[in-house]
Amino acid sequence: MAGPIPERAQVVIIGGGVIGLSTAYHLTKQGWSDVVLLERHQLTSGTTWHAAGLITSAGMTDEASLEMSIYSRELYARLEEETGLSTGFRRCGHLHVATTPTRVEAMRREAAYAKRFGQESHEIGPSEIAELWPLAETSDLLRGFYVPVEGRANPHDVAMSLAKGARQGGAKIIEGTPVTGVTRVRDRVTGVVTAQGTISCEVVVLAAGIWSRQFGDTIGVRVPLQAAEHYYLITEPFEGVHPDLPVLEDPATYGYFREETGGLLVGLFEPEAAAWQPDAIPTDFAFGEIEPDWERISPFVDLAMSRIPGLRSVGVRKFFCGPESFTSDVHPLLGEVPELRGFFAATGLNSLGILLGGGVGNVMAEWIVSGQPPLDLTGFTIDRTSPHESTPAFRRDRTPEQLGVLFGDAVAPGWTPKSARGVRRSPVHERLVRYGVRFDTTTGWEWGDFFAGLHEPVPDVIQSWDRQGWWSLVEAEHRAVREAVGLLDMSFMCKFWVQGRDAGAVLDRIVVSDALNSPVGKVVYTAICHDGGGMWVDCTFTRIADDCYVVIGTDLVHRRLEALLRRAVGEEDAATVTDVTAGFALFSVQGPQSRQLLSRLTSADVSNEALGYLTGRHLDVAYAPATWVQRVTYVGELGYELHVRSDLALGVYDALFEAGDDLGLRNVGMSALNGLRIEKGYRDYGHDIGNDDTPLEAGIGFIVDWDKPDFPGRAALLKQRDGGPLTERLVNLVVLDPEPLLWHDEDVLCDGVVVGEVEAGAYGYSLGGAVAIATVRCESGVTAAWLSAGSFSVEVNGRRYPVRAQLGPLYDPKRERILA
Ligand SMILES: Cc1cc2nc3c(=O)[nH]c(=O)nc-3n(C[C@H](O)[C@H](O)[C@H](O)COP(=O)(O)OP(=O)(O)OC[C@H]3O[C@@H](n4cnc5c(N)ncnc54)[C@H](O)[C@@H]3O)c2cc1C
Repeated sequence: MAGPIPERAQVVIIGGGVIGLSTAYHLTKQGWSDVVLLERHQLTSGTTWHAAGLITSAGMTDEASLEMSIYSRELYARLEEETGLSTGFRRCGHLHVATTPTRVEAMRREAAYAKRFGQESHEIGPSEIAELWPLAETSDLLRGFYVPVEGRANPHDVAMSLAKGARQGGAKIIEGTPVTGVTRVRDRVTGVVTAQGTISCEVVVLAAGIWSRQFGDTIGVRVPLQAAEHYYLITEPFEGVHPDLPVLEDPATYGYFREETGGLLVGLFEPEAAAWQPDAIPTDFAFGEIEPDWERISPFVDLAMSRIPGLRSVGVRKFFCGPESFTSDVHPLLGEVPELRGFFAATGLNSLGILLGGGVGNVMAEWIVSGQPPLDLTGFTIDRTSPHESTPAFRRDRTPEQLGVLFGDAVAPGWTPKSARGVRRSPVHERLVRYGVRFDTTTGWEWGDFFAGLHEPVPDVIQSWDRQGWWSLVEAEHRAVREAVGLLDMSFMCKFWVQGRDAGAVLDRIVVSDALNSPVGKVVYTAICHDGGGMWVDCTFTRIADDCYVVIGTDLVHRRLEALLRRAVGEEDAATVTDVTAGFALFSVQGPQSRQLLSRLTSADVSNEALGYLTGRHLDVAYAPATWVQRVTYVGELGYELHVRSDLALGVYDALFEAGDDLGLRNVGMSALNGLRIEKGYRDYGHDIGNDDTPLEAGIGFIVDWDKPDFPGRAALLKQRDGGPLTERLVNLVVLDPEPLLWHDEDVLCDGVVVGEVEAGAYGYSLGGAVAIATVRCESGVTAAWLSAGSFSVEVNGRRYPVRAQLGPLYDPKRERILA
C-alpha cells in the first residue's frame, strides 16, 4: 500500500476522495504535473465510495454552483474517452417536483436562472410526471421540472477515472500514507509531514473530507465543518423500475429516488439531521458505515414511501447511513486559508461532492496556478467563515438544520436560520429588541432586518417573493432616512486599525488608492484587488492620526481583509494590525436632520465647514469622549458614521433617541438600507460585486488612483481602462411598473433579448418601483448611449416589465444635502 514518498513536489494534496483526485487531475491539465496526492487509507475510503451519485444542478441559483455542476456533468460524460475508465454516468434525466405554489415559483425561477448557463428544463404537469414516473403518487403534485441532460454516475468510478487521468498527467498517488502535519516558515507552508518522512512543497491542498477540521486544528487552521448522518436505502428489484427512470427529487417528502440494480435507491434529506462524532472523527474509519438511528429516521422513510406507494410491499436490501461534512451555510470551503499562505482548502461539500467535484477540482487548479479564482467564489471561500463556526457548540447546534436547508427549506426570500442564533450581538442588541426588531443573521452577527416600533409585536415573515407585513415598516424607515433621520446599527462591519510609523506605507502597498499621502481626517473609499484586477474586498480607510488608519469592510470579508492587511506588513515595517471590531459599535446616522441631531449631542462644531463631506474628527458625543465621527453615507443623504467604544455605545444610542424624537429619528434595518443604497447605486460586496469584478466593471473606477506607480491589479486595470468600452458591467435599473418586486437573479433583457441578470434587488420607495443593480453585457460596449437607445425590461416569474437602465444613480436629487 504505502509506497516510497518523494522528497519534494510542487503541490501535495491531502486526501484521495473525489475532491482531491479531481484537483490532482485538473492541476495536471494546467501543466503542473509535479503533484503528489497522499491518501491515509485507500482511494475513496472516506465518503466518496458510498455516495448516491446524483448528478444534477437542482436548486442552484448561483453562478459558481451552476458552472461547477454543469462542468462536472460534462466531464464525467467524456472522461472514459480519455482514461478508458467509465464514470458510470447515465443521462437518465432529473425530475424535480413541487407540491406548493411557492415551491413551483422557486423551481420556475431556478429553471430560468439555469437557462442562462445553457441548461434547458421542461416544466411539466402531473400527467406528464406520471408518464415519466408511473410508480409515483402524483395526486398532490402541482408541477415538475424535468432536465433530460442530467442523471447519475457511480462515485467510485468517477474517482477512479479521475485518478487514472491524474496519473496519466504525471501526478503521483500514494495510498496508506496519512499526513500528520505540515512544515512552515513564518506564515507560509513549506511541506507536509508523514510517518515515511517529509515532502517539501510550495502548495498544500487539504481535501480530507470529514477529517479536514481536525487536521486543521492540529496546525492552527480553522476549517469549520461537521460530519452529519446521511441515509439511503436500496430495495430489492421490483416491477416498473428500470435504469432509464429519471432521478426523482421531491422536497415535500424529503426524498429522492433512482434505480439501483433493478430496485430503487431512496435517499433522505430529513429536516432535522444529526451531527456525527462532533468531538473527533476516528482516524481508522475507512469504508465505514454508521449504525442507523431507526427511531429518528423511520418517520421520514414512511414519508418518502408515500411518494412511491409500491415501496411498501418490497423488501429492503440495504439500509445505509454514512457521514458527510456540512458547513454553516451549506457552501463548500474553498481557497487559500487566511492563517497559512500556500495552504488551500477544498472541502466541506454538503452532500454535493460528486456532482460538484469535477468543477471544484477545475476551479481549485486554476486558482492555485493563476493566483486568483476563475469565477465569483465570494460565497464559497473558506475566509468567509468566522471563528465561532469551529466551536463544538455551534457545530452541534447548526449542523442538524443543514440537510433540510440543502433540500429546499430555504426556498424563497424571508428564510433565516433557526439554529445557533445570537452568536454575535451589537452592544445595543437589547434596545433593538425593545424597538421590535426582526433579526436576521450572517457571519454569526444578529442584525436588524426591520423594526415594528417600540414594544410593538414583530410581524411574521413567511418565505415569499411578495409584499408582506414588513412592507409598510420598511417604507417608513426608508422615508425617515430620506426626509428626517434614521439610525442604522452597523456594528457588524469589520474594523481594523493599522498603526505605527509605517502604517501608511503598509496600507498603500495593497489598496488601489493613495493611502500614503492621505491627510488625517480624509475618508477614502477603496478596494484591494488581485493581479487580475478583480476585487478581493472593497473598504474605506481613514487616517485618524498621523500613524493610525481605520479600515472598515463588510462582515463577510472580515477574515480576508484581516489577512490582506497582516500580510502587507513586511518584516522591516514598524506597523501593527489590530482587529477592533468588537471594541466599537458603528452607528450610521443618516438623513437631512442628522446634522441637527448630532449637534444636539456634541459641543463640537459640526457645520459643513468644520466637518465636510468625506472627512472625520474626534468629537464628544453625549458621554462618549473623543468619538471618531466621519461624514459619509451609504444611502445618498447627509449622514455620519459614529465609531463608539462598546462600553459607551448604549449610552450614546439612548442619547440619540432622546435627542432625536422630535426630529423623527427611527431605527432603520438592512431591508430599508438595501433599497436606499441601490437607489443611490452604491455597491455591496458579496451581493452585487465579488472577486471577479474589477472596479471598472463595478462602475466604481473613480476609486483607482491611476497615478499610483504600483498596486496589485494595476496592470490588468490599466489594460482594461485603455482597451475600449467594457462589454460587461454593472448598471442601475428601476422598474417602471410599481407592482413587481426584484430580489436577485431575474433576467434583464434589451429589445427582448436576455443581456444580463439582477445581482441585487429591492424596492425604491422614493422612486415608486423596484430597483436593482444588474450585470449587463453588450459586445460593442455597455455605454450610456447603448442603455438609452435600447428598450430594457426584466423578467419576473415569467412576466416582462419595462425598466430604465443607467450607469449613474437612479436617485440623486438631494446631492446638495450630501455635500453641504
Ligand atoms: C449517504 C450519502 C449520499 C450521498 N450522495 C451524493 C450524491 O448523490 N451526489 C453528490 O454529489 N454527493 C453525494 N454525497 C456526498 C459525497 O459523497 C461527498 O460530498 C464527497 O464524497 C466528498 O468527497 P471528499 O473528497 O471531500 O471527501 P472523501 O471522499 O471523504 O475523501 C477524503 C479523503 O481524505 C482522506 N484523508 C483524511 N485525512 C487524511 C490525512 N490526514 N492524510 C491523508 N488522507 C487523509 C480520507 O481517507 C478520504 O479518503 C453523498 C454522501 C453521503 C454520505
